Order: sequence, then structure tokens, then C-alpha cells
Amino acid sequence: MSFDIFETPIEFLKGVGPQRAELLKNEAGIFVFKDLLHFYPFRYIDRSKFYKTSEVDENSQYIQLRGTISNIQLHGLKRTTRMTARFSDSSGSIELVWFKGFRWLKNSFKPGVEYIVFGKPNRFGNKINIAHPEVEVVNPESISQLSSMQPVYSSTEKLKSKGLDSKGINKLLQKLLEKIGSSIQETLKEGIISELKLMNRKEALINVHFPENEVKLNKAIARLKFEELFFLQLSLLKSKNERQKKLKGFMFKNLGSNFHGFYNNCLPFELTNAQKRVLKEIRSDTLSGKQMNRLLQGDVGSGKTIVALMTILMALDNGYQACIMAPTEILAQQHYINIQKLLKKLEINISLLTGSTKQSERKPIFDSLISGQLQILIGTHALIEEQVNFKKLGLVVIDEQHRFGVAQRAKLWEKTQQPPHVLVMTATPIPRTLAMTLYGDLDVSVINELPPGRKSIKTIHRTDSSRLRVFSFMKEQINKGRQIYVVYPLIKESEKLDLKFLEDGYESIAREFPLPNYVVSIVHGQMKAADKDYEMQRFARGESHIMVATTVIEVGIDVSNASVMIIENAERFGLSQLHQLRGRVGRGADQSYCILITGNKLSNDARTRINAMVSTNDGFEIAETDLQLRGPGDIQGTQQSGIVDLKMADLAKDGKILKYARNMARQILQKDPDLSLPENRTLLHTHNKLFKEKSKWSRIS
Ligand code: ADP
Ligand code: MG
Repeated sequence: MSFDIFETPIEFLKGVGPQRAELLKNEAGIFVFKDLLHFYPFRYIDRSKFYKTSEVDENSQYIQLRGTISNIQLHGLKRTTRMTARFSDSSGSIELVWFKGFRWLKNSFKPGVEYIVFGKPNRFGNKINIAHPEVEVVNPESISQLSSMQPVYSSTEKLKSKGLDSKGINKLLQKLLEKIGSSIQETLKEGIISELKLMNRKEALINVHFPENEVKLNKAIARLKFEELFFLQLSLLKSKNERQKKLKGFMFKNLGSNFHGFYNNCLPFELTNAQKRVLKEIRSDTLSGKQMNRLLQGDVGSGKTIVALMTILMALDNGYQACIMAPTEILAQQHYINIQKLLKKLEINISLLTGSTKQSERKPIFDSLISGQLQILIGTHALIEEQVNFKKLGLVVIDEQHRFGVAQRAKLWEKTQQPPHVLVMTATPIPRTLAMTLYGDLDVSVINELPPGRKSIKTIHRTDSSRLRVFSFMKEQINKGRQIYVVYPLIKESEKLDLKFLEDGYESIAREFPLPNYVVSIVHGQMKAADKDYEMQRFARGESHIMVATTVIEVGIDVSNASVMIIENAERFGLSQLHQLRGRVGRGADQSYCILITGNKLSNDARTRINAMVSTNDGFEIAETDLQLRGPGDIQGTQQSGIVDLKMADLAKDGKILKYARNMARQILQKDPDLSLPENRTLLHTHNKLFKEKSKWSRIS
């Protein structure tokens, strides 16, 4: 292997040395030259603009002021703990404050001299101040040098203590670029650069750290974002191609007595257009000879189950077995009961296998699976246990995708010589940009239409103080024959506290809704499975009016007479969870309600979440807001996807660039699937370098 200057350990950079190197590694993840080169500023500050003190408030970002310093005071009894000074310009004054370096600072400011002060304003009591500002004397030369785009790097206290604040890091980059600038090579091919009018790589890397002007900076950022997204998409699409080439898929050629019998005699309603469209997509997958890996996205209540069931019937008609894997026992049971009901008129063998299936019932299930008699197996992750062996598994349906780890799914896949088709269903809508990246190597189907006749759920925000109104509304609804959920948050760190919340809530509700007129159920994670089940069933049969629960009911439970969802401490739930919970109601023909109860004071983020819930029922809109609020790194599933490695691109904001990147990657792979043409050598080289460690990505992801 040839020597790669970009892999040089960071201590060999002039000005670094062993101590700083250690800190750069531990604090910033910078090990080699390349890491520093890609340690991008997170912001740029306009140093050519001066603000007036009268314009400053606590929301101001880093700003720059021009004026004089006076009234320097030391505070603290025995020891000085704080030093303040007055900073004045023609519009007024603000306070500057320091917590160390007093002696030196005290003597360095001269009255009447004009200074430039730079920092981030804060509110302190009812005063605005700037702590530890950068201060320099005004001189015409320094002003003319102030750039309108000064890069800001994230630093830490430890780094700062060794001189590596934002400025210090920028200095290192200057040294680095002097040393390796001439070695920076292009990674994209000429065709792409000219077609998209991209800045070349070297110029982009220089300008992102040392912007010549704003136009060039923007082009530099765009180029680096494109590059990141392009190679990620190239890798995803390439591995999808390879998988499809390698893995043959079962052919579901026939639609026979199961599929048609069900369609003609058992289907209790007309399919929505979206359901029909998805079934067509699945049909064409299962006739293609390739293994299907399809993600089915659809809001809660959009009718994914029936699509899965009809896909299962396609498998059965072709002599294959199928299974459904659900994340919880309750959900698995519900699928089992539902599907049994739907298939009542057909002669189909179905079994349920979960953690609580009795030993004596297991043996017959295992036997009939291996003999092929058992056609549909529904269950929890009990399905991936070793003893579970199919004769001819043709299709795996996975419900609520994000709860299963990649490894778990791969285990199921290993059960057969030829991989079954895989249909992954999720009720957590994922914004398009994220789906393209998270599931870049899956095909995605979307059910974007609810079954007809549904009244959209009314969502209302109430504060603690209007609880009595909420109680009387609940009584009104119960008198109309409806049922109600009351949900409490669950925070893993303190299960005891959670339980207390729930039990207190239960008590106050039980007091307000006494027997014999009202029956109140309670379900939480620390109950025995049998007790939980009993309570759930009671509620499902309509024998209790109110179900007080933790989020155990979040997934999947289906009681169409329940039309009110009350969420306590709603500010403590994430958006997607709130939306999931809301989806538990609105399943029948009656008007449904979701009432979000919060404290009086809300953080900005909490307010945005509550407002989003009140203003829309659309899961994709909710997911988009969630992405904007939390950023892609926090959204489930992103950890294993490579998204977290993005240093420049932001999936919440860069949807447009992502689309270009994906299209370009697709075009290139269409012509040259292995990137073996000479013109694509650079691309292949870069791709392999970037992704050689990641090639172990699961085939079912
Ligand atoms: P989800 O997508 O949340 O899994 P389900 O499959 O549980 O949704 O469907 C929700 C409810 O809507 C079920 O009671 C189901 O029977 C009903 N349903 C599904 N499709 C239709 C349809 N096309 N017309 C009317 N009702 C439907
Ligand atoms: Mg479902």
C-alpha cells in the first residue's frame, strides 16, 4: 500500500505535539490529518458587522461591538470571584464579565480607548452581559482584515485550556493545509462536477475553513454535502444491486384459492387505492425472481395488516409458509385473533408462538412447521429461537420495524437456504430524506390514505388546571357508550416514580369514576403477563370504560369503540410517540378525540411538539417536524445507518441535494453496476475506502 499522507497521526502536525494530540483524539475524535481536514466549522460569524449595544438581547448570537471600557470592578469577599466592566457606545451600555484572569485583565484596559468586543450575550438576572469576550484595540488595519465569514469550530474546556479554542483550531488547519493542500485530490468524476457545476474538492476544503467570500463558501459547503450524500447513496444502491443479483427470490406465480377465496368471500371492505397500489408493487416484486425487501410505511390505522395478509395468501397459494413477527406479545396475539377471524371461512392452519406459549403446545407447532402442515406462524421474537424450523418459508412479515434490531432479523433469515421475501411494516412514518438513506437499500411502499369513513381525530391541548373539564368531557363520552384511554409517560430511569405517577392517576380517576357506574382498568409493564392480558381483554370486550396505562398500549392495540385518548404529561413524550398513541383511537365510525394534558409552562420544543399534534393528523408531517426538532441522529434506527457519519450534510435540511446525489448515483450504477469502467475508477476507489469497514451491513436491514 502506498503512503497516504492523510493518514498521518495528528501529533506529526507542526504545533500539535503529544499533549495536544491526546486531547484532539479524546475530545474531538481527531486522530489523523484527514480527521482534522474534515473537522468542519459548525458556524460562520460575520466579523465585518458591528452591532450597537442597544440592539443586543439575550437571543443574540455571537456579535461584535465597538466602544469604550470603564468602571472595572472586582467582586467577592475574601477572594475575587468575578470582575465586571461597563462597555459603552453611542447607543448605551452593557456589562462585560470575567471569572478568571483578573489581575492581568484589570490592567489591560485603558480609559478612553476604543475597543472591539466580541462574544455571546447572556441574560443574567435582569441584565444582559457578555462573559469572557474577546477584546482588541480598534485600529484601522485590524478592521479592514475582519472577514465576513469567520469560521467557528466546536471546542471543549480541555481543548481551550491548551490553546485550542476556535481560533486555535483554525490555526492548526492553516498549518495542515500548507502541508497537505497540494495532495488533495478530486473524488468525483469530471462528468458529475461539470454537470452539477460543483466546486472542485481542493477549493471546497480550503474555502470551508478559510472562506474567500460568501459565494465561494456556499459553493464549498454544497460541494462537500453533495460528496457525502453521493457516496452514501452510491454505497446503498450498490449493495442493493449486489444483493439482488446474488439472492434469488421465490416466485409466487399463482394466485389461487387462498388469495381469490379471501378476496371474493372474506374481505370485509373495499381496499383503498393505496392498499391496491402497494399490493401491485408486492406482486411485481414476488414475480421478479429477486428477493423482496420492502418497507411498508403507513400511518396507524391505514390498513397495513390486510396488505400483509394478502401477501401471505400469495405465498400460501404457491406452497410456501409465512410468518409474522410482532414486537410484543399483545400485538402478536391481536394479529393472531384478527387473522384467524378474517380467514375463518378458509382452510388455513395458523398458530401463535410467543414467550408464554406452553411447552406442551410447542412440540406440535414445531412438528407441523417442519412437516409443512402449519402454514402461518404468528409470534414475537420467539420465532427466531433455534427450534423453530420451517419446511418452506417463503415470506416474513415484520410488524413495527424499528423495534427489531438488524441482527435479530438476520437470524430469521438464516433459517432457510434461500432467503424468504421480507415485508417490513412500520407505523412510524419516516421523512423521505431519511427513508432514502436509512432504508436506501430497501424498496419503500407508502399507504398514504386512510380507509374511507374515518372522521379525523380532534386533538386538543389542556393544562393541568382544566382537569375538571376533562373529567366531565370523559363522562359525557362514556354516557354515549364510548371508551377512554388515559396514558402516563414511562421513563426508564425511574420505574418506581413512573409507577407512582400511574397509580396516583389511577386513584384519582377511580375516585372520580366510582363503581358500579364506571369500571376502570389499569395496565403497566410491571404486571404479570396474565393480569395484563386479562385487563386488556376486559377493555377490548367493552367491560371497562377507562383504561389507565403506561405506553405499553402504544403499539397496535385495536379497540374500535375507544374514541378518546388522554395523554398525561404530554410534554414528556416525543412527537412520534404522541402520534402513535393518538393512532389508538379514531378506528371506529365515531368522532374521536386526543387530549394532551400538560403543565402550564412549556419549553419551546415541547410547545412545538404540542402545536404540531394539534394542527395535523398527518404522520409524515409529524415526522418531518420531529426530524427538524431532533435532527436525524436521534431518530431510531439511524445509529447503524451511516447517517451519523455525515459531517457536513444534514438530512433535515438537505433533501434537495440528497435527491441530486441519489439520482446521480443511480444513473452511474445503471451504466456501470460494479463501477468497473475506467471512467469510474476514482469513484470506486473512494467508495471502497469509505465503506470497506461497513460492508458487513446486514442484508435485511
Ligand atoms: P395499521 O396500518 O395501523 O396496522 P390496521 O391494519 O390495523 O392498521 O387497520 C386498521 C383498521 O382499519 C382495522 O380495523 C381494519 O380492519 C380496517 N381497515 C383496513 N383497511 C380497510 C379498508 N380498505 N376499508 C375499511 N376498513 C379498513
Ligand atoms: Mg398494525
